[in-house]
Amino acid sequence: MKVLKFGGTSVGSVENIKKVISIVETASTNDSVIVVVSAFGGITDKLLEAGKLASEKNSAFIGVFDSVKLRHLNAASQLNIEDQDIAQLHVYLNELEDLLKGIFYVNELSLRTKERLSAFGELCSSVIITEALKLQNLKAALKNATELIITSEGIKQNSVDFDVSNSNIREYFKNIPQPITIVPGFIASTPKGEITTLGRGGSDFTAAILAAAIVASELQIWTDVSGMFTANPRIVKQAKAIKSISYQEAMELSHFGAKVLFPPTIVPVMQKNIPIIIKNTFAPEEEGTIIRKETNANGNSVRGLSNIENIALLTLEGAGLIGIPGISKRLFETLSQQSINIILITQASSEHSICIGVLNENAEKAKLSVDFAFEYEIELGKMNPLLVETDLSIIALVGDKMKNHQGISGKMFSKLGENNINIRAIAQGASEKNISAVIAKKDVKKALNVLHERFFEDQRKQINLYIAGVGNVGTKLLDQITQQKQYLKENLNLNIRVVGITNSRTMYFDPDGIPLKSWEEKLLTGTATSIVGFTEKIIDLNKRNSVFVDVTASEEVANNYTDFLKNSIAVVACNKIACSSNYQNYKDLKYLATKYNAPFLYETNVGAGLPIIDTLNNLMASGDEILKVQAVLSGSLNFVFNNFKKGDSFHDVVKQAQLEGYTEPDPRIDLSGIDVARKILILARESGLDLELENVFNEPFLTDKNLKSSSVEHFYETLIEDDSHFQRLLESANANNAQLKYVAKLENGKPSVGLEEIPSGHPFYNLEGKDNIVLFYTKRYPEQPLIIKGAGAGGDVTASGLFSDIIRMRTY
Ligand code: ADP
Ligand code: ASP
Ligand code: MG
Repeated sequence: MKVLKFGGTSVGSVENIKKVISIVETASTNDSVIVVVSAFGGITDKLLEAGKLASEKNSAFIGVFDSVKLRHLNAASQLNIEDQDIAQLHVYLNELEDLLKGIFYVNELSLRTKERLSAFGELCSSVIITEALKLQNLKAALKNATELIITSEGIKQNSVDFDVSNSNIREYFKNIPQPITIVPGFIASTPKGEITTLGRGGSDFTAAILAAAIVASELQIWTDVSGMFTANPRIVKQAKAIKSISYQEAMELSHFGAKVLFPPTIVPVMQKNIPIIIKNTFAPEEEGTIIRKETNANGNSVRGLSNIENIALLTLEGAGLIGIPGISKRLFETLSQQSINIILITQASSEHSICIGVLNENAEKAKLSVDFAFEYEIELGKMNPLLVETDLSIIALVGDKMKNHQGISGKMFSKLGENNINIRAIAQGASEKNISAVIAKKDVKKALNVLHERFFEDQRKQINLYIAGVGNVGTKLLDQITQQKQYLKENLNLNIRVVGITNSRTMYFDPDGIPLKSWEEKLLTGTATSIVGFTEKIIDLNKRNSVFVDVTASEEVANNYTDFLKNSIAVVACNKIACSSNYQNYKDLKYLATKYNAPFLYETNVGAGLPIIDTLNNLMASGDEILKVQAVLSGSLNFVFNNFKKGDSFHDVVKQAQLEGYTEPDPRIDLSGIDVARKILILARESGLDLELENVFNEPFLTDKNLKSSSVEHFYETLIEDDSHFQRLLESANANNAQLKYVAKLENGKPSVGLEEIPSGHPFYNLEGKDNIVLFYTKRYPEQPLIIKGAGAGGDVTASGLFSDIIRMRTY
């Protein structure tokens, strides 16, 4: 004989009930079965809601009752059940209505009444499912669980009198004629015959009690997921079903929040060595999880992760605790008298404080009773009043074999630390089957995902990107990511996804990753953006390995880096403003990046995708010393002067450069030299100098009129007006057989930028198109400089520079 239990989600709708019928039909072909059913999904909550409303004299309870009634009657009619076959359902619904009215009149909802009320869900669902099975010509009969399962007097609501219950069950199932028996889950009787329940989620327990009593060959739990997962699949997308797990491990996971199994379920079946199989009603072909005595020996030492929400941490602290026996006894006794369940305990060996984790809802009661119990010590100042912190959660690693492996807790805590997740308390049972940590509720999703990645995912690292600015460079970056995604997954074990994007009008987020092929359409459907709103949302999403990518040229955006870094969100920027802002800000950002383990990378600030900053950093890190830097760092200016030939108007050349995308939207930023000044300033700072932008000597080649122009348009007009000035510059260079190049220098600690006539033979002379070149003269390269040369502007190369900074995240 087998026991099959179907949860609320499996019997949530007529569609689903049909799936249940087919599973039961298959299971009962060669064996007789007991089918335990939950209430239709969500009904127990509705019943309690109606009861609460009624007890508050709120007549809205009638509406809730009507919806409950309608759901059952509709289900029955859609399953083609004749009205005469569900007379019992009508009886229950009438009783329920009377009970709710009674609560409304007396204005009170006692525990006993609450139990009776919540039992109606299973009473009703079991009638409908039995009739639906009979309609398929299956030989099914209904047996009310209240006639079988009896609780113990006066103790906790879900403690079962196994002697009486077992004998009732054995007696009933000794000679049953029908192959299929339907039993409502969750409900039971008190010894006085009053209806009660086994606690929320208790249908699993009903099934286990029945299975153990008749020593079933197996207990099948049919639910909405394909087994017990390595973590709650609703929180961790990458979680996988665990094939096989021991009773102990499953017990530990369910006690620590894996709702898929009601915690007391395991003990009765474990004692009889009956396997539990967790299966998915909606994917019955999937293997599911088998819970049994032993698991296969070569499994992962960490079996699963789980979490308990709504935890409060109570800390009893004070010199009065040290070396005085009996304090913890008094503390625990006090909590036990108040029926407060203790979930976690830690005590430092200094004995200066004891820390206890309880459910949030018990915190206030605990505070009052503990402060009262220790009133004397508190008054004498030997102890502080109980400190209560709420809105916390417990996360736990579970596995039988963890004890044989060193370093698991080390990995766990370092991963949490790297991701800026603050740990409030730690507990590890001596059995080492469980390592728990108390953290803020807001960090749970991130923590579980980070730990899941660490312990279960072949070390594939997930990187979550937020991209601000999707113009020329941003679009190219998204194209490159789309193209390389698979390669990175296969070759670098890196999973890159874009979670948020914004332009200057709208922002769009998809916590599971924006489908990259349609990001443009998605962004059109986004919400109004602001950098503050974008930042808040990113911080709020609190995803691990988050990277903010700044592809704007906005100062406002650059001002937000601090917020990102402080939240352990890495920053990758081609925006130069932050690194060329005041020195203190540049230093602070670097400091925050180290402190919060969030890289701040800006290789594209100088020379687009060329590895200039990286090379400089490596020279510095390996102990070299920068003596001199000479460089052509503006692809835009290089493009302009390479194309400026005798007979051309300077205006037209600049216009062409802008049209081809080689200048900033405002070409004055390039032509005034400010852009190059920022770049040499950044190189100077990276080589260890404490300098400001004002310290960069900049002799402009533009005329006063050009520099004082009031708009981009006006600027272009002044270029025409002052064309002769530019012609003179060109003529002089031609006469000297030289090329005009805009050069940046760092010499004797002094940075400068300006237009120069470069004689033939000089490494800059033949620099083409939009190329950049940097000559590093260092202690190790004193005469022949280390030269980096190549395309230093353009969407593709800048995007690829950003992309390589993003990929570098894999080593952090
Ligand atoms: P039922 O109505 O069938 O009793 P429950 O809602 O009680 O179903 O339990 C199933 C749910 O448990 C899943 O949908 C899932 O969200 C949650 N859950 C939490 N932790 C785990 C886990 N480790 N493995 C599988 N499911 C889990
Ligand atoms: N219907 C009950 C509940 O919602 C019992 C169960 O589904 O296991 O808690
Ligand atoms: Mg359940």
